[in-house]
Amino acid sequence: MEKEILDKYIKAGNIVKKVKEYAKTLVKDGALAVDVADKVDAKIVELGGKPAFPADISINEIAAHYCPRFKDKLVIKSGDLVKVDLGVHIDGYLVDTAISISAGKNAGNEELIAAAHAALSIGIKTAKPGVQVREIGKAIQEEISRRGFQTIRNLSGHGVDQWVVHTSPTIPNFDNGDKRELKEGDIIAIEPFPSTGEGIVVEGKDSEVYEVVSEGNIRTGRDVLEYVFEEFETLPFCKRQLINKFGALKAPLAIKQMLSSGIIKEFKVLREKNQNSKVAQAEHTLIIQEKGNKILT
Ligand code: MN
Ligand code: MN
Repeated sequence: MEKEILDKYIKAGNIVKKVKEYAKTLVKDGALAVDVADKVDAKIVELGGKPAFPADISINEIAAHYCPRFKDKLVIKSGDLVKVDLGVHIDGYLVDTAISISAGKNAGNEELIAAAHAALSIGIKTAKPGVQVREIGKAIQEEISRRGFQTIRNLSGHGVDQWVVHTSPTIPNFDNGDKRELKEGDIIAIEPFPSTGEGIVVEGKDSEVYEVVSEGNIRTGRDVLEYVFEEFETLPFCKRQLINKFGALKAPLAIKQMLSSGIIKEFKVLREKNQNSKVAQAEHTLIIQEKGNKILT
């Protein structure tokens, strides 16, 4: 990798490390999820980066993709297990990371969070040039299962690339039989999700998070469309970001047209199949190296 590009990944990683520490101070009983998300996204910009995607604040049985809405009333309560998933990019070179935080002391939450950290750590140790991705998944699953939890099988880690959050190789959280081998210089995100439920996520509500999938045009609100193309390119963005910039009338109308013209697609919120369960997550982006992986986040 060229030094110039490597430096951008390192810079993005250094920013996200600081923002994660900041996020830990925001997650507490009584905090509005939308305030946490807005403050996290603003801090990334303040430190000289850009969000690689709008921060997700997924609570308890919600595993991923809960991006707070404009004026969202969701309040964090004591006992909640809160996952903050965030990313930073510099000129499209991005890192993706996540932390889990217990709002208030809660032994159950802390055990599940410890399982996420342990599984991530063993996943990172297993990942080396020449290792099959199934072996990473196997190590993650064994660690989670040893601690008495389920590994969520239909959520996985992934490669990252410029302007692309999810690319090959898929990094499974169980032994999925994939013999694809990692190689020196691969940049991947590993993200185990231990669960007290069934170990499967299902699609929930619309997330109001979108991604550009095709070129095209719309009749009204073309400035919104141009902004989306220029600011986000192929990175995810959400309705709240566009309302903050263009207002509560114009932004939703433009989004509606972009959806119906097939220019953007919408993600779903992902929740544990068992609605009374809790899910934790830990995630790092790293560079695979023979001499020892470089953890960017
Ligand atoms: Mn993530
Ligand atoms: Mn990820």
